[in-house]
Amino acid sequence: MSQFTLPNLPYPYDALEPYIDKMTMEIHHTKHHQAYVNNLNNAIAGTELAGKSLEELIANASKVPIAVRNNGGGHWNHSFFWEIMKPQGGGQPTGELLDAIKGTFDSFENFQKAFHNAAMGRFGSGWAWLVVQNGKLLITSTPNQDNPLMDLAEVKGIPILGIDVWEHAYYLKYQNRRNEYIENWWNVVNWDRVLNHFLQAKGK
Ligand code: MN
Repeated sequence: MSQFTLPNLPYPYDALEPYIDKMTMEIHHTKHHQAYVNNLNNAIAGTELAGKSLEELIANASKVPIAVRNNGGGHWNHSFFWEIMKPQGGGQPTGELLDAIKGTFDSFENFQKAFHNAAMGRFGSGWAWLVVQNGKLLITSTPNQDNPLMDLAEVKGIPILGIDVWEHAYYLKYQNRRNEYIENWWNVVNWDRVLNHFLQAKGK
């Protein structure tokens, strides 16, 4: 039996239309995410890593085989990504998260600009993140399927928001226009979920 399995999407494939199209979501979930799951299972099968949690594999990314780092990261990142989006999302965060964003970035608009720049500035494939590090908010980005939970990450922290900027996340609808994809993506952010991540990361 395989240790890791593909989680169901919390909404239908067409639910994020028109911002993220149905075909992109379907291929992203059933092909790309499924491949990370399959390759991770294959990479740990019969090794001393079998039975370890995904969190433990990620936290030890510098010490595990590259296939475990890449596919474990891919599995974690996509499982996270599906959950911080929703249909009829967008707008602004509320409560303590909005206060923290304003306290750190002066305004929600400035935060969006800084996050957008991190996502645009990631050369090639990777992710941009909003993380909590020692109780403070920080924006960072990672290459490939790395993430800030990995021991080898340049900037470490607990992710509370993240955007996939691999071309497979937007190319069918936006082609080379990563810019437009990021702008439209704000309309599907699930801020309630991000707030929950924030409160958890702060230990509340
Ligand atoms: Mn992806």
